[in-house]
Amino acid sequence: MIVLKQKQEVSNYTATCKLNNKKVGFVATMGALHQGHLSLIQFAKKDNDVVICSIFINPLQFNDKSDFDKYPKTLSADLTLLESQGCDVVFVPDVEEMYASEDATQFDFGKLDKVMEGVFRPGHFLGMAKVVKRLFDCVQPHTAYFGEKDFQQLAIIRKFTADLHLPVRIIGVPIMREMDGLAMSSRNTLLLANERVAAAAIYKTLQEAKQMAFKYPVDAVKQFVLSTINHIPGFALEYFEIADAEELQPTNNWNTVKPLMGFIVVRVGTVRLIDNIRLSN
Ligand code: AMP
Repeated sequence: MIVLKQKQEVSNYTATCKLNNKKVGFVATMGALHQGHLSLIQFAKKDNDVVICSIFINPLQFNDKSDFDKYPKTLSADLTLLESQGCDVVFVPDVEEMYASEDATQFDFGKLDKVMEGVFRPGHFLGMAKVVKRLFDCVQPHTAYFGEKDFQQLAIIRKFTADLHLPVRIIGVPIMREMDGLAMSSRNTLLLANERVAAAAIYKTLQEAKQMAFKYPVDAVKQFVLSTINHIPGFALEYFEIADAEELQPTNNWNTVKPLMGFIVVRVGTVRLIDNIRLSN
């Protein structure tokens, strides 16, 4: 496995792959890798000849400085994991390398960033899009893989990739969960032991909401989720929305032809956990 730090080195690597008719798959991460990330690597390996993974904690997408400061950093363990998965190249740029050059791309996320994460994390999606665009520009993969755990992020990446005519195919990968249902996340390691045990309630509550969906009014389901989560000591619901899976617009009724999903963010102590569930069959 090759570790590269410069954009030009990655671009050269991909150019050589393309000259040799090799398909290049790409997975962008912020490190502190877990099985969720590794499932993206496995999807990429299945479809491609070469897999490139980036590890870059992007300061621009953290609207909360303390979240950035405490974000887990486990580079040497990450490299060992990636090597064990057969990843070919790891791109580990620093902030200067990533942002030294100008890129005046204008993004328009339409309705997609006016809801949920876009409201609660101002500037997050613009920061995320800036780095993903820069990563696409230097890695130039045929296909890039993103997790459905960050469903709104995935929708926004699909939109700007299409709007800007970037020659990258975007694939969404299903959420990987712990045995008790908690969505795997780098932030889970920041939970205290008792918080980690209690956090299984998030997915359990989403599953119960799915049982109620289409049988009870939307408001009743939302109220159920709110009171269930807020009754758990140390837990605070930031939002639970029922929205369509395409434009992510919240709805107050079940009468829509578009598939519906439930989107949740819970604050557990100081840690912010995100998850979602498909409600329509
Ligand atoms: P992050 O390192 O948190 O920026 O995540 C990097 C990529 O891994 C993103 O596309 C995430 O959506 C994806 N990812 C993170 N956790 C999971 C998970 N539990 N299941 C599937 N994909 C995930």
